[in-house]
Amino acid sequence: MQENDDVRDEERRESGEPPEKASKESSSSENDNKNDKENGGFEDVCFICRRPESRAGKMFHLPNNISICEDCMHRTMDQLSQFDYNGMLNNGSFPGISFVNLSDMQGQGGIPNKQKVKKKEKAGEKKEPAIKKVPSPHVIKASLDEYVIGQEHAKKVISVAVYNHYKRVITGSMDDIEIEKSNILLLGPTGCGKTYLVKTLARILDVPLAIADATSLTEAGYIGDDIESIISKLLMATDNDVERAESGIVFIDEIDKIAKKKDTNHRDVSGESVQQGMLKLLEGADIEVPVGATSKNAMVPLTTVNTRNILFICGGAFPELSDIIKRRLHKETSIGYSAHLPDEKENEGNILREVKNEDLRKYGMIPEFLGRLPVVCTMDALDKDMLLKILKEPRNAILKQYKKLLELDEVDLRFDDGALEAIAEKAREQDTGARALRSIIEEFMLDIMYEIPKDNNIGRVTITRDYIEGKGGPVIDIRSQAAVPSQPPAVS
Ligand code: ADP
Repeated sequence: MQENDDVRDEERRESGEPPEKASKESSSSENDNKNDKENGGFEDVCFICRRPESRAGKMFHLPNNISICEDCMHRTMDQLSQFDYNGMLNNGSFPGISFVNLSDMQGQGGIPNKQKVKKKEKAGEKKEPAIKKVPSPHVIKASLDEYVIGQEHAKKVISVAVYNHYKRVITGSMDDIEIEKSNILLLGPTGCGKTYLVKTLARILDVPLAIADATSLTEAGYIGDDIESIISKLLMATDNDVERAESGIVFIDEIDKIAKKKDTNHRDVSGESVQQGMLKLLEGADIEVPVGATSKNAMVPLTTVNTRNILFICGGAFPELSDIIKRRLHKETSIGYSAHLPDEKENEGNILREVKNEDLRKYGMIPEFLGRLPVVCTMDALDKDMLLKILKEPRNAILKQYKKLLELDEVDLRFDDGALEAIAEKAREQDTGARALRSIIEEFMLDIMYEIPKDNNIGRVTITRDYIEGKGGPVIDIRSQAAVPSQPPAVS
């Protein structure tokens, strides 16, 4: 055999062919050389078990030059599929670390679904306005009269403005006319019923209402609430019903706090910039608002609300505005321009009624902003008579509320006229409008509400001026007996 092989080799050498064995060996070493050249003479090592490719077999190549052998890859996948995330959460194996369950965020885990928006009608479909019928101005005013005392002029102006606004919304003629929105600027001292008037109005018309405070607003990107947060509040008030929100009312209180700051070299992020930012909102624009939250972030879905049919009412006390008005009136009379005598005006408590656009501009409101609040309406400071009426007359008057409470104990609560006057006088002194009434009444009613349920024989309690002024006690009548003046309730 060996002889045969040698002969064959001899023959190949003579014909110039390489020997058979040598050719096999040289082909495998050629492959190795090629691989070595490609890998620079290195082979991959498994990232987990550290075995080289020559021992572990085929490798999976992951990003960042990581290789994992087939065995390790299978083992890892098996472990992942058996991993008990919930068990880990319940055992508290990772204190301080909480796992987010994405399905909960979509409202499928029993958590109320705050992040869904009611479907909007498709474009092209005829849109039914969310508000169907608007009462005429005299009907609106009559309803307001049941709750809001005095402020006749303001109630009239608002009834007409609201009627016109919703008439345009319902008939869809808002588009034909340009920005003829009757947004309202309400001026009046604190506690005179601005917020109360707007709240009552929204209830009468059955439209959603959002009340925002201009003091917290800042230009987008600065600490504070973005201007869009106002619309988010309205959307929340409607349970994310975009269409209802689009015909709601927004009341922005303390609007005087966003007046242009005087004598400042800094950027006015909470004054003039906020007024600028509110322009498109007041005028009517598509605003992107977060659903179920008041600020935008990555986890909150956004929806678009159009503000064209939203009625904006801005309210403020404008504390130094009366001085500006007085100065102007003085100037006008001194050059014989006005028929009014300055003294006459100054004696009037309600000088705000004389307000003109130029006064507001002097105060720090920018002309573009004022231009978008075409209806300016002033509310009067409350005098003693109005305070007396506020105590007794509105549907939900404070006295009626207390009377009702004591009726439940079968006790008849009465206030004599002197007592009511004393309460009104005390409230006037506090200078916080009708807000003071409740705090004064609550103070002296505490003793009565505490003592009365103790004694079943008490049939009637009459509050007197002396009791309010701390000089005596209320008159207490025992059931089916004549009135007996009593000692004040025995409390410390
Ligand atoms: P502001 O003008 O500061 O917004 P509010 O509207 O908050 O004042 O008034 C405070 C409270 O005083 C109201 O909740 C309401 O009960 C009472 N009130 C104020 N003005 C009137 C009014 N003209 N008629 C009836 N209640 C009033």
